[in-house]
Parts: sequence; structure tokens; C-alpha cells
Amino acid sequence: MYVDSHAHLFYEDFDEDLPDVIQRAIHAGVEKIIVPGTTLETSNEAVGLAEKYQLVFACVGFHPHEASKATDTQLAEIESLSRHPKVVAIGEIGLDYHYDFSPRDQQRNVFRKQIQIAIRRNLPIVVHTRESTADAFEIVREVSALNRQWKATEQGDKRGVFHCFTGSVEEANILFGLGFYVSYPGIVTFKNSPVLTTLKTIGLGRILLETDSPYMAPVPVRGKRNEPANIALTAKKMAEVLGERLDEVARVTKENATFLFALDQEHQHWPLRT
Ligand SMILES: [Zn+2]
Ligand SMILES: [Zn+2]
Repeated sequence: MYVDSHAHLFYEDFDEDLPDVIQRAIHAGVEKIIVPGTTLETSNEAVGLAEKYQLVFACVGFHPHEASKATDTQLAEIESLSRHPKVVAIGEIGLDYHYDFSPRDQQRNVFRKQIQIAIRRNLPIVVHTRESTADAFEIVREVSALNRQWKATEQGDKRGVFHCFTGSVEEANILFGLGFYVSYPGIVTFKNSPVLTTLKTIGLGRILLETDSPYMAPVPVRGKRNEPANIALTAKKMAEVLGERLDEVARVTKENATFLFALDQEHQHWPLRT
């Protein structure tokens, strides 16, 4: 029923009970979970989880917080890891000017280098931005203009997703025009959530659902550890806000994620370890 397009299941928050977390997700109707890496190490862990659990798919990349640690050698390893059949995107990558854990010029540099990996591998990107919209848009606009074939398909362009999207209608439309999707986590359920106005206007067309586990837990579990099973709470609220049926929200967001990440492709099936 659902695709959780963004969950960091490798964090130690899940060390104790990951098999239970997976079982609860399946029980709640989660069919697939995309696990984005944040460093070379966690990208490897994401791939390990994708090998272990049939419903898990991985993304590999350096989060902007970790940009200062991304050497060229490590980026080359990210690129070779991206050849794994269950890697569906380069991510999460981007720019975070709120925390500035890495110098901004390094963040931009590593963001560009990782987009080039995605272009070489013809994979979409999972983008994280915070207080960095202008720069992030400039970079993706420039790269998209130079590489028109990148993830361009007859059914529409699918260059990636801006996750935890908090932007305006205007910003969403710029991204849609560049071939991107936007995804919403539990923030949709927060009281007086600023994202609702945008959500109402842009509708379901190019939207994905995510939990951003272990963060961003939706109401009424806000503040607790988040997990993929909670995606149903976000979907329910989204249906309410949009005046859509819950099964329609589930269907369209799942279709969007399946198309963007090519989740239905045979070659992505991985022989499970027994
Ligand atoms: Zn993020
Ligand atoms: Zn994330």
C-alpha cells in the first residue's frame, strides 16, 4: 500500500528491534522502504539492509553535514557501491546552511560531485536542503540544463526528490519543471503546519510520502522515535487536507515512488541470504 521513501534504518535507534520495526511496517501496509545513506559507512549499511530485507532499497551518498569528510577516494567508492542492483538513487545529498556542519563551499562542491555520479550512473538523487534553497535550486537548474538526458523519460522526467519539503508553491513548481518530486514526512500532521498551504495547492501529482525515521514522528507520536509503520498517520492527514480518499493518497504516492526509483524493475531483485 505505501512506500516509505526516506527512512534511516541503520541508526543505532533501531539496533535493538529492527526485525520488529520491519514487521510492524509490513503490518501497517508498507510495501517498500528506501534507506538513504549519509556517509560511505552508512551507505554500506543501507546496502547491507537492502540485501537482508526484500522490501528495503538503498541510496548511497554523503549528507551535506558530512561533506567535509567526503574525499575523492570515498566518492569513488560511493560510485562503485551505486552499481549494486538494490541501489535506487544517489542520496541523501544537498546543502544544509542551518547547521553548517561542513563549510558551505565544501557542501556545494560535494553536492555537485555527487550529482555528477548520479548523471554518470543515470540514477535519480535524493536531496536534503535547509535554508539553502537558492543555492540548491541554482545547482540543480544548471546541471539539469547541461544534462537534458539525465533521467528524462517519455513518461516524464525523474531526476530526484527534494525530501522533507517545506517550500512554497512557487518553489515546488520550479522543481516539478526541472523533473523533480517533493516528499512530505510527519510534519504534515503538526499543529498549524506551514506546509499545508503548499500541499493543498500542489496536490498529489508529484508527491512522495516519507517518515524520515527515526526523526519527524507524526502526531500523536511526535517527539518519539519514528518508524516506517507511522507513515499511515501522515497519509491519513494528507488525505484529510487534500479531501482525497486514503487509498488514493496511498496509490498515487506509491506510483510516484515506484516510477521515480524504478522499484518494479526485475534487475533490482536481490537473491536473499537464507
Ligand atoms: Zn534530510
Ligand atoms: Zn534523511
